[in-house]
Amino acid sequence: HLTGTRPSFESTYRMLHKDGDYRWVTTRGTAVRDVHGVATRIAGSQRDVTQTIGYDSLTGLPNRLLFLDRLAHVMERARRHKRFDYAVLFLDLDRFKWVNDSLGHGPGDQLLAEFSRRLKRVVRGLDTVARLGGDEFALVLEDVGDLAAAGRAANRIQQTLEAPIVLDGKEIYASASIGITMAKPEYGRPEELLRDADIAMYRAKSGGRARHEVFDQHMHAEAVSRLQVEGELRRSLEAGALRAFFQPIIDLSTGGIVAVEALVRWPHPVRGLVFPDQFIPLAEETGLIHSIDRFVLRQGVEQVRRWQQQFEGRVPLEVSVNMSRVQFGRGGMIEEVERILAETGLPPASLSLELTESVVMDDPAGVRDVLWRLRERGIGLSIDDFGTGYSSLSFLQQLPFSTIKIDRSFVSKLPSQSGAQDFVRAIIVLSRAVRARVIAEGVETAEQLAVLRELGCDWAQGYLFSKPVDVPAMEALLASGISWPAPEATH
Ligand code: C2E
Ligand code: CA
Ligand code: CA
Repeated sequence: HLTGTRPSFESTYRMLHKDGDYRWVTTRGTAVRDVHGVATRIAGSQRDVTQTIGYDSLTGLPNRLLFLDRLAHVMERARRHKRFDYAVLFLDLDRFKWVNDSLGHGPGDQLLAEFSRRLKRVVRGLDTVARLGGDEFALVLEDVGDLAAAGRAANRIQQTLEAPIVLDGKEIYASASIGITMAKPEYGRPEELLRDADIAMYRAKSGGRARHEVFDQHMHAEAVSRLQVEGELRRSLEAGALRAFFQPIIDLSTGGIVAVEALVRWPHPVRGLVFPDQFIPLAEETGLIHSIDRFVLRQGVEQVRRWQQQFEGRVPLEVSVNMSRVQFGRGGMIEEVERILAETGLPPASLSLELTESVVMDDPAGVRDVLWRLRERGIGLSIDDFGTGYSSLSFLQQLPFSTIKIDRSFVSKLPSQSGAQDFVRAIIVLSRAVRARVIAEGVETAEQLAVLRELGCDWAQGYLFSKPVDVPAMEALLASGISWPAPEATH
C-alpha cells in the first residue's frame, strides 16, 4: 500500500503464538519517504489487543462481551422482522475440573481448544460460538426454526465429543451439559437469554450430564430458591451451626455398641432439622461439601474421643465419618485428618472414613495413593453402600479397605426376597477373602438380624437398634451399657 498514495495503514488480525494461543494484534504503519518522495521504510507499531478486541486468546473464539454484543444484534434484527426463531445454547464441559486437577492446566487448555474446534465444525458459519470463560461456551443459532432443531444441534455437539480426545498421551472422553433457551419477544436484554440458558444447563448437569435441557419458567423459581438455600447453608456452616448426629453400630457377637457413624444434620430456623438428602447434593455442586465433611469429621472425632474417656470399655469406641466423592483426598485432606487426630488424641485406628465405590472408580490412580497413605497411618477405610456401584474384584483386592458396608437395599430384602440371602452371603465371603470387616446397614427387623448373624456378619446398624440421634441421646445409650441380645440369648 505504501508505495501508492496512502500514507499509512492499520490492520487487526490474529497470530498463532508459539504457546498455541491466538493473539490478536493491531499493526499500524506509516511510510517513511526520502527527499524524492519514495517510500524507503515503514515506521510503525504492533500492539497486542487480545483483551480489548473481544476474542478469547486460547480458542480464538469471541469472548463473553463480544458474544453479548452479537446476541444484542440478533435480538434487534428479530424485533424488526418480528421473527423470534433463534436459540441460545449454554454449554459446560462435564468434569472439566477433574481434568484440570488430575492432568494439569496444559491438558486442560488442550481440551478446551479441541472442544472449540469441534464446536465450530458442527455449527453453520453464521452462528456465533463463544467462550464465556472457564469451561463455559455459548452459541446463538439464528433461524433455527423450532425447538426440535435446536435440540438436534445440541445432539450434534454431543456426537462430536464421542470421539476421544488425546491429552498427554491419555484418551479422554469429554461430554458437555447443554442448556437451551428459545427466543421470545419478552426477552429484553441478551444477558437474560444467557441466564436462562445457564439455568437450563444446570438442570442438564444435575440430571446426569452429557445431555441437554430446554429452559422453562419454573426452572427460574427453582434456581432462585437454590441460591437462597446455598446462602443459608453457607452461613450456617460459618456460624458452626451444623450438627453431627450419631447412629450406634453393634457388634453382632456381643450385642454391644462398638462404633458410631457420624451423620450431618442442619438445624434450620424455619424448616426444622434438615436431613442430608436435602442439602448434600447442593453442597457437592457448590463445593461446600468439603467444609461440611471437615466440620463433621472434627465434631465426630472430638465427641468420640470424649466418650472414649468417659466410658472406658473393653474395646475403644470407633467413629465412622462420611467423605464426599467430590475430589476426595485433595486440598490437604490427609494433613487435616492427621491434625484433628493429633489435636484430639483419638487413636487413628478408632477412625474410619467411609467412601462410596464411585469415589475410587472415577479416578482410580489418584485415589489409590491417598487411600494407601491414610491406611499407612492406621486409619480405617470403609466402602459405603456396597453393592450399589460397580466395584470389581481386583479393585477390592488392590485397595486397603478395612470395612465393607452392605447397602441397606440388600438388607431390607432379607429374609423374604429370594436371592437376597445368597447375595449378602457372597458379600460376606468376599469380605473375608480381602480381610475386611462387614457391617450391615439399615437393619430394621429381628428377622434380618437373625439372618445376618447366621451368615456371620460382623457388625450392624439400623433402626432396630437406634436411629441416628443427637449427642445427649447417644450419650444416654452409651451410659446405659445397653446391649442387644447375643445369639445365645435368642435361642
Ligand atoms: P449413609 O452413609 O448410607 O448413611 C446411612 C443413612 O441411612 C442415614 O441417613 C441413616 O439415618 C439411614 N439409616 C440408618 N439405619 C436405617 C434403617 O434401619 N432404615 C432406614 N430406612 N434408614 C436407615 P441420613 O443420616 O439421612 O444420611 C443420608 C446420607 O447422607 C448418608 O448415607 C450419606 O451418604 C450422606 N451423609 C450424611 N452425613 C454426611 C456427611 O457428613 N458428609 C457426607 N459427605 N455425606 C453425608
Ligand atoms: Ca455412611
Ligand atoms: Ca451407607
